Amino acid sequence: LSSRLQNVFGKLKGKGKVTEDDVNEAMREVRLALLEADVNFKVVKEFVSKVKEKAVGQELAKSFTPGMAVIDIVNKELTELMGGTQSKLAKANKPPTVIMMAGLQGAGKTTTSGKLAKLLQKQNHKPLLVAADIYRPAAIKQLQVLGEQIKVPVFALGDKANPVDIAKQALEHAKEEHLDYVIIDTAGRLHIDEALMDELRQVHAAVNPDEVLLVVDSMTGQDAVNVAESFHQQLSLTGVVLTKLDGDTRGGAALSVKAVTGCPIKFAAMGEKIDSLEPFHPERMASRILGMGDMLSLIEKAQSSIDSEKAAELERKMRRAEFTFEDFLEQMEQVRKMGPLDQILDMLPGMGKVKGMKDLKVDEKQMGRVEAIIRSMTREEKQRPEILNASRRKRIAAGSGTSIQDVNKLIKQFEDMRKMMKQFSSMMGGAKKKGKMP
Ligand code: GDP
Ligand code: MG
Repeated sequence: LSSRLQNVFGKLKGKGKVTEDDVNEAMREVRLALLEADVNFKVVKEFVSKVKEKAVGQELAKSFTPGMAVIDIVNKELTELMGGTQSKLAKANKPPTVIMMAGLQGAGKTTTSGKLAKLLQKQNHKPLLVAADIYRPAAIKQLQVLGEQIKVPVFALGDKANPVDIAKQALEHAKEEHLDYVIIDTAGRLHIDEALMDELRQVHAAVNPDEVLLVVDSMTGQDAVNVAESFHQQLSLTGVVLTKLDGDTRGGAALSVKAVTGCPIKFAAMGEKIDSLEPFHPERMASRILGMGDMLSLIEKAQSSIDSEKAAELERKMRRAEFTFEDFLEQMEQVRKMGPLDQILDMLPGMGKVKGMKDLKVDEKQMGRVEAIIRSMTREEKQRPEILNASRRKRIAAGSGTSIQDVNKLIKQFEDMRKMMKQFSSMMGGAKKKGKMP
């Protein structure tokens, strides 16, 4: 999903102007990419029309880079599709909070139960794990091993007991021991069947859980959504846990589960290790699907702090090698507004690979000194740095109360900065078209 979307957006990024046709073409690609990733077709249809509506309605021409603005809209809508904000675990008014885990066999219920217990334990809670899967061979043992590993008690009555009784007694046990979370690991089947649903409904009725979490294997794509729908009808789910997001998943499940079932994704599991469960953050998932890392937050920063007209002017100057120390000063101000330079560089994809870029660090504390040096230059020197010979450098050092080394270093940095800005502007896109903007 990611690579396909990146292609679409790669084209869009460089656009200085985005027409309705551009948006339509990009959305055709997005539509295909989503369908290919097994996102439910209804979800795709709705998504595409929403993005189009917003993209065309917006005053794209005024934004820093219009192509980026479209990507930004896609990102926001993807986030919205997955629930918008992070959805927290419910808490019972009176402890213990009862969490029932459900899902097909192999989805990751038992593993996730352990991970969730560990997560709660880290927040100073006292969870109890309950072994209510009496069918799968060694399922009880599996939970006990996990419990031992994280030092969380496991309630089990063997595989002859009835799951409903196990759940009920576990709840009593938790109350007696003042444990504040009860996590019930239930049985799964390879496919949804009536007997299983019946049992789960009975367990549900017996303990009246505060959370019914459906554990879904994200690798199963479209099928994950069907499973979620049936479980939701039977058990009134309160949330979904997506597992195996560390694998080669196409991301479709993450995108459609919330939209189709209305159930928020509460957690994401990204590995076999016990601490690989994380609260699910829709905005992070959206960025991951778009495959852009922190690119979008960088765009936001740039949009909010760089004056687009000034940026265009600067780019024009740089292309004609007219970039001067005066511009350098001004640019430093702009960059300073965006935040620490190395942080900005880190956010640019591929920037780490640019040679020599690691050595280029603008120390915020040194900015004052840099300013002093530049202010000690004559107007001519500022505009034509190439005339800065040894005697001029000496004079500037004396005038600014710095050393010749400092002046030399700055001049070197200036050259680097020139290169960097060239790089920066082409990465931000629109470098060539900018000049044509009204
Ligand atoms: P259950 O039948 O639903 O209880 O599933 P299990 O908890 O026994 O997990 C089935 C398999 O999936 C096990 O081999 C787990 O180690 C594996 N598994 C569970 N969650 C994840 C995950 O997030 N990532 C990966 N890579 N494997 C997982
Ligand atoms: Mg299990």
